[in-house]
Amino acid sequence: MAHIESYVSPHLQPNGQLNPFSLEGKLALITGGGTGIGLEMARCMATAGATVIITGRREAVLQEAVADLGSSVHYLTNDVCELDTLEDLVAQIEATHGPLDILVNNAGINMKKPALEVTDEEFTRIIHTNLNAVFALTRVCAKRMVERKNGVILMISSMAAYYGIDRVVAYAASKSAVEGMVKVLASEFSKHNVRVNAIAPGFIETEMSRTAMNSDPDRRDRAMRRTPMGKFGQPSDIGHAAVFLASEAARYITGASLPVDGGNSIGF
Ligand code: NDP
Repeated sequence: MAHIESYVSPHLQPNGQLNPFSLEGKLALITGGGTGIGLEMARCMATAGATVIITGRREAVLQEAVADLGSSVHYLTNDVCELDTLEDLVAQIEATHGPLDILVNNAGINMKKPALEVTDEEFTRIIHTNLNAVFALTRVCAKRMVERKNGVILMISSMAAYYGIDRVVAYAASKSAVEGMVKVLASEFSKHNVRVNAIAPGFIETEMSRTAMNSDPDRRDRAMRRTPMGKFGQPSDIGHAAVFLASEAARYITGASLPVDGGNSIGF
């Protein structure tokens, strides 16, 4: 007699209960999701069952990403720095796809320059993208999540918030502020069942890190010397951590900053 295997969804455990690491039925918004870390977070979340909306300023990049990632990933062109567009962005997403469960504040920019040469305009530009826009979009999404008593917010921080890296003063200031924001928002939103956490990537191979490292082999060597695992991370390493923190498996984790760094933050 032929043996008939019953179909078991990867989102279900053998006992029929939902796998706590699954994002089946969840809706996620990932800013800057067309490239690098954001792209792989979108891939990992979609693989875990989520519908994912990615945003960014370059439509061609987003179109290519969506073609690569499959039918559960959609894009909207948006510049997070245009703060007065964020309310409409979220309203449009929710009108089309339903309530947002997960926000990932990933869009970010960096600039490498000695602190004494950084102009006010340059400093403000980094802070506006990496901090002001993160707060503004978080406030828009969190108002809705708090009302629904359900939500997860993830920030993408950096080793620059953990220890002193030279020539990234504005970037480090922005990421340190985001780490502070995580603690405050977690303490305010916990009673509403909204969790807020950060992932602090170590040195991850993306366009941003290539730009910073390729022109500066000494910096690259220093980063590797203090990384016990002895290699750069991959964007998917951040993607898997994001799935975990967004899932029910992390339901008792809030206000945390998770280094995903090959040991860089504790390396000697
Ligand atoms: P990328 O440069 O590949 O990605 C940044 C993304 O953000 C791009 O898709 C970009 O798209 C988008 N973006 C930038 N500005 C805006 C804006 N104003 N509005 C909307 N989207 C914007 O870099 P990474 O993937 O490396 O970086 C992702 C995050 O990870 C950043 O927050 C970064 O600080 C952080 N990080 C990265 C590390 C690394 O080693 N790579 C280490 C630590 C932290 P577009 O230009 O089309 O708008």
